Amino acid sequence: MFDWLIVGAGFAGSVLAERIASQRHESVLLIDRRNHIGGNAYDCYDEAGILVHRYGPHIFHTNARSIIDYLSQFTEWRPYEHRVLSSVDGKLLPIPINLDTINRLYDLELTPEQLEEFFASRRETVEEVRTAEDVVVSTVGRELYEQFFRGYTRKQWGVDPAQLSKSVTARVPTRTNRDDRYFGDTFQNMPAGGYTRMFQRMLDNPRIKIMLQTDYREIRDKIPFQRMIYTGPIDEYFDWSLGRLPYRSLRFEHATLDCEQFQPVAVVNYPQTENYTRITEYKHLTGQQSPKTSLTYEYPTDIGDPYYPVPRAENEALYKRYEALAAACSDVWFVGRLATYRYYNMDQVVGQALATFARIQQSLPATGTVQMLTQRTMLGQHSEQFPT
Ligand code: FAD
Ligand code: UDP
Repeated sequence: MFDWLIVGAGFAGSVLAERIASQRHESVLLIDRRNHIGGNAYDCYDEAGILVHRYGPHIFHTNARSIIDYLSQFTEWRPYEHRVLSSVDGKLLPIPINLDTINRLYDLELTPEQLEEFFASRRETVEEVRTAEDVVVSTVGRELYEQFFRGYTRKQWGVDPAQLSKSVTARVPTRTNRDDRYFGDTFQNMPAGGYTRMFQRMLDNPRIKIMLQTDYREIRDKIPFQRMIYTGPIDEYFDWSLGRLPYRSLRFEHATLDCEQFQPVAVVNYPQTENYTRITEYKHLTGQQSPKTSLTYEYPTDIGDPYYPVPRAENEALYKRYEALAAACSDVWFVGRLATYRYYNMDQVVGQALATFARIQQSLPATGTVQMLTQRTMLGQHSEQFPT
């Protein structure tokens, strides 16, 4: 009998497995239907010896000290600030849109103050900013929206930005200075040995057993457990009883080329041309030297593994109904991007998992801890710190 069954070995499941095993001293069976741990953050060395991300580029960034401190127990960090170029009108221009983007696109020499005026003269008045289109047209105007956002968003999500919640494009800021970093967070670093190495260290605990290539449905009636953490799609857990929640998927095409460098930065976006949204070149992320280089092309699709919840009001409403079903399941915790239907970054999922662990600590006495303390008391080991 396991104390816990955890479904999904991504960030949500792995952080909780680690916390439960190391802090509550309880046993965990961690399963995943894939053949590896790490969820979508999984990385591995390809045939050319380059560390690649099987599910597209994963760049770590956060403002939360507690999350950095937590993950730093399991990894060193390699400084890396992400830069992205967008292929617009035949030019490779910085995205997020900044001073250089506009000056190079229109062959101008604006100052930051003049760029403010430029945006002010182009932005549209939107009474209530609700959609992914509203966010952009009310900041930089329709022309730049069409050039940088509309096509990319339609490809990525399969719907027009006017049908998506504002949170989607609000992820990408607009700048009037020359800062060309994709993220503005205080902490921007990659796990030095890669994500998978970090997950291995997190899960290296004899109280955690891992079963890969195992679907929850295959074992739920066969392996006894007391409590469960579920990090898969929430509608699947309830057999889609209220209907399907849309998740957007991607088809990844991985390639290795016989050249040292393919593109000037790690990611180039294609908002106007091509069927793929972006190309990632991994050596920029890892700093590896090699006469070869490895790339990933991302082709959005509705078919395949669920990668993105689709942020729009009707999906949120359906999710809320599933959430109500989930709330009625005592002894099951729903955590992570798929189970809580939130467009979360990795650090946000870690934060959510740590917050869930705090709630578990408050609501449940730790059986493993009780056992351990009893044993220690019998052995006279009173000086060790109690697990928190
Ligand atoms: P997942 O990583 O999806 O893990 C869930 C796991 O559960 C999966 O491995 C799945 O196989 C398993 N599972 C599901 N159902 C079952 C079942 N029934 N039985 C057994 N196993 C099951 N975040 C960033 O911070 N920075 C980035 O640059 C970034 N880039 C991204 C790029 C792409 C292309 C994608 C798709 C995501 C990106 N993210 C990024 C987001 C990041 O991947 C997620 O925030 C994070 O991986 C979510 O972790 P999770 O544990 O919630 O889910
Ligand atoms: N986006 C866009 N053009 C770009 C970059 C982003 O239209 O050049 C929009 C698009 O809708 C995308 C969203 O902004 O899905 C969020 O971008 P982000 O880079 O955060 O996407 P992710 O890395 O999560 O796929």
